[in-house]
Formats: sequence, C-alpha cells, structure tokens
Amino acid sequence: MSRILFAIGAAAVLAGAAYSQPMSARRIAWNKPFPPFHLAGPIYYVGSAGLGCYLIHTQAGDILLDAGLPEMAPQVEANIAKLGFRITDVRILLNTHAHFDHAGGLAALKRKSGAKLYASPGDAALLRAGTAFPAVKVDHLIRDGEQVSLGGVTMTAHLTPGHTPGCTTWTMPIPEGGRTLNVLFFCSISVADNRLVGHTTYPGILADYERSFALLKTLPCDIFLAPHTEFFDMKEKVARMKPGAPNPFIEPGEFQRFLAGAQRDFEERLAQQKAELSRR
Ligand SMILES: [Zn+2]
Repeated sequence: MSRILFAIGAAAVLAGAAYSQPMSARRIAWNKPFPPFHLAGPIYYVGSAGLGCYLIHTQAGDILLDAGLPEMAPQVEANIAKLGFRITDVRILLNTHAHFDHAGGLAALKRKSGAKLYASPGDAALLRAGTAFPAVKVDHLIRDGEQVSLGGVTMTAHLTPGHTPGCTTWTMPIPEGGRTLNVLFFCSISVADNRLVGHTTYPGILADYERSFALLKTLPCDIFLAPHTEFFDMKEKVARMKPGAPNPFIEPGEFQRFLAGAQRDFEERLAQQKAELSRR
C-alpha cells in the first residue's frame, strides 16, 4: 500500500512540473499533429509527432496502446478515422505507463470507444487516482507474462517497473513476408524525476530498475516502438518509407543499442544521486 501512495505522490509532482514554463513548451512540441500511417502488419500509428499511440487492427475489433496527453484525445480519435477505422471498434485499451503524457487521453478515449482498460497492478492506482491527468477506471489487472488476444493477434505483457511502479513493455509477433517478426512496444526506463536512493520515489525502485534492465536484454526485437517517438527515430524512418522498399521500421539490434545507452544514462544518474546523498 505504501508503494502505491509513494507512486501517487510522484505523479502529483510530475503533474505540477507539467504546468511549469519549460514543460509547457515541451508539451506543445509533443502535441504537434502527425499524419497517421500503416506501420507494419496489423499496426497503425495514430499518435502525435512526439507521443506514440498505436492501433492494432483485427477483424474482431481493435486494440489501442497509449493515449498521449489529455488534450491529445481528439487528435488520436481523428487519426483513427482518417485511416478508415472507427473509435467504437476499439475493444481494449492498453497503457505502457501511467504518466500524464501517455495515459492522459485514456479517460476520454474510453468514453468514446466503450473499450475495456487493461493495466498492471503497479500503475492501476495512478490511473484510478486522477491526480496528474483525468482518472480512468481500470477494468482488468494484467499479470506479468499475461497474453492479451483479439482477432488472431496476441500481445504479451512484460512488467518492467522502475520508470513507474507498473511500467509495462508489450511484445507481439507479426507475420511479414513469410517470416515472423517480433515487435516490441517499450515502456521506458529513464530515471526522469525519480529518486533512486535515500528518500526513494517508491520502496524497491532501484532493484526494480536493475531487474527490468536484465529482463529487457532478453527480449527479441525486430521492430522497436515506444511512447516517445524520438526513442526510435520515427520521423526519420517515415521519411524513408517507400512502396516496394524494405520497411525502415524493421531494424534488429536497434532496441539493444538503445538499451545500452539507457543503461549508461541510468548508471550516471545513480552515481550522481549517491554522491548528492553522501554530501548531505
Ligand atoms: Zn514517463
């Protein structure tokens, strides 16, 4: 329980930061529209220029992963319509992590779609609290390794806590040109405003980050996607998309290179925080 309360406190701090001056400029840049497009297999991009949202289309209905900022909901809905799909066909809502820039639009899109929201126990408290963004009802709690299937598509949840207590990375195999490709929807593993030592953001956060790095290193990935588009150079890849040419989003090895960089950043931030603590 204390873990949940600490997490809510952290979200409230983030919500405050969201309305400060530098965050506003960042928020406007994140919210910039981006034309929706077919990414690979059943996956369509329906997010903004900066914040990834993904529609997985099946004959039995659609899955929407992440919803961006609260003000992004109409944009995501319009992107779904532009592709010829219907918001009312969305059956399941998923979330990589319960921060205002990825969960903010969930409540509005849930109302519009009538979809069920699946979330990890670690982040469900943040989603329900509505301190940093509109509160949203969680309909189903997902377990580590749980598979979510709809219309022949199966997504697997991997709990990768640290960035948030219930940060969830999703993987999905897709058929492509006679072979199977592994798509990875990364949560995030940045330190951001988290405290790793001393008065930590939540109990056990440091061990969570370490376990998550170890787990993420084992996940196969041919197509790396994430809640922040700069993580996987989306704009640059879209510019390289041409009919008949190989899909630029297929890049085995890219995620592991990204992760190695993230781990270096993490070690640096951890060393900084330890040094600050020992100076006190
Ligand atoms: Zn975040």
